[in-house]
Amino acid sequence: MSDQRQLTIVGAGLAGALLATLLARRGWTVDVFERRGDPRVEGYAGGRSINLALAERGLHALRSADAADAVLAHAVMMRGRMVHFLDGGEQLQRYGRDDSEVIWSVSRGELNISLIDAAEAAGARLHFDRRLDSVDFDARMATFLGDGHAHMHRFEALLGADGAGSALRQQMQRVASLGERMEWLDHGYKELEIPPARDGGFRMEPNALHIWPRGRYMCIALPNDERTFTVTLFLPSQSNGSHGAPSFETIVSGADARALFARDFADALPLMPELENDFEAHPTGTLATLYLDRWSLDDRAVLLGDAAHAMVPFHGQGMNCAFEDCVALASHLDATTDRAAAFAAFEAERLPNARAIQKMALENYLEMRERVDDADFLLQRALEQALAERHPDRFVPRYAMVTFRRIPYATAFERGRIQRELLVEATRDRQSLDGIDWSTLDAEVERLLPPLPPEA
Ligand SMILES: Cc1cc2nc3c(=O)[nH]c(=O)nc-3n(C[C@H](O)[C@H](O)[C@H](O)COP(=O)(O)OP(=O)(O)OC[C@H]3O[C@@H](n4cnc5c(N)ncnc54)[C@H](O)[C@@H]3O)c2cc1C
Repeated sequence: MSDQRQLTIVGAGLAGALLATLLARRGWTVDVFERRGDPRVEGYAGGRSINLALAERGLHALRSADAADAVLAHAVMMRGRMVHFLDGGEQLQRYGRDDSEVIWSVSRGELNISLIDAAEAAGARLHFDRRLDSVDFDARMATFLGDGHAHMHRFEALLGADGAGSALRQQMQRVASLGERMEWLDHGYKELEIPPARDGGFRMEPNALHIWPRGRYMCIALPNDERTFTVTLFLPSQSNGSHGAPSFETIVSGADARALFARDFADALPLMPELENDFEAHPTGTLATLYLDRWSLDDRAVLLGDAAHAMVPFHGQGMNCAFEDCVALASHLDATTDRAAAFAAFEAERLPNARAIQKMALENYLEMRERVDDADFLLQRALEQALAERHPDRFVPRYAMVTFRRIPYATAFERGRIQRELLVEATRDRQSLDGIDWSTLDAEVERLLPPLPPEA
């Protein structure tokens, strides 16, 4: 007799390892197959410090796996965005009201290792060096390659946490159309580094996400526990009418990168002694949004995380969203013995929300690179903060709804649209908030934005 409580996860990355933990703790028999070697033995693939911003949605998911404390022990708090202007000036724009509303910079490698440890401790069986190669859905047999051999694995259901280039997604599409559409961004990225200062400390303010907005392109830097910063340079990556703006076609060598930094990121340049080497040694990354019409194949397979909805990284939500997927999928699987119904309910709940955060992530790129230093934006932001104080249960800035709350992304998107219209209308042709008609605005807020329910 087959084990109805057996599940097979493809990928032991961020989502796969967390999902394995959640399911194993709920009594499921879980096998996880990962293409790479065990990072606890072989070191994390890539070796470089790459970090991610962890926000409330992700933290909440980690708490439900009792993994939050271990992760936060190595995280660096980021209170807001430190904007670096072209003239060398800086301004800290707080993200939230106080230190209860912050985001955390975490090392991707350490986070992945903590989650793999948690999955193993919960009883999941981890199989490293096993790359999903093909699936026979009728026979429920998956073939993994590794150690020079093909390994056959009989499954009840496959859960695809194998990232944006998902092999499981490709296999599912051989037997059913998922309606896949991949939209590539015409900008790429390069990861660089700011090492520690001579005295071993940070070379810039550690408790901030640093941004150098420059119109059609930008740089950001996130702190690491080891007193370094991971710097990411985003530039146009194709001859896309960028009209003289630098791009990865014009900035090719380390010397080109130095000249670009000297001109546009002058305050960062002296902090980056390895700029030329890093620029030439590190690959240029590509960015895309993945849209699917369906994530599941009856009771036999379902996709989650980047495998289902990869997004551009400008809201810092890809992992946070993937972690929310894990909690949702585990609870749908627990709610019914009808696995096809559980997969369908998971997809119905999460797909519209994934679409919403994908859109907001694309919009945030424009905001980060073009708007955070612009006068209209700053006035709208001042009004936003004032309305948030006047109506804390109704007017919650969109960034805060996405980052510090767990209301569905689709709700955050819709309320954010209403709020933006109010802000644009109320600040039109104004240089300051003097003379704003607060009573009319308050009435509009109360008419358009019902109170948000408190979060459990
Ligand atoms: C530059 C950049 C910055 C980002 N910053 C943030 C941020 O600040 N905050 C945030 O929330 N998100 C961020 N993200 C997004 C985040 O990295 C992803 O959303 C997250 O990693 C998705 O997790 P996942 O487990 O779905 O996929 P992945 O992390 O990609 O894991 C997939 C796993 O599957 C394995 N695998 C792949 N193919 C196979 C196969 N055939 N067989 C077996 N195993 C396989 C891989 O080796 C990997 O371990 C960023 C992304 C980028 C590119």
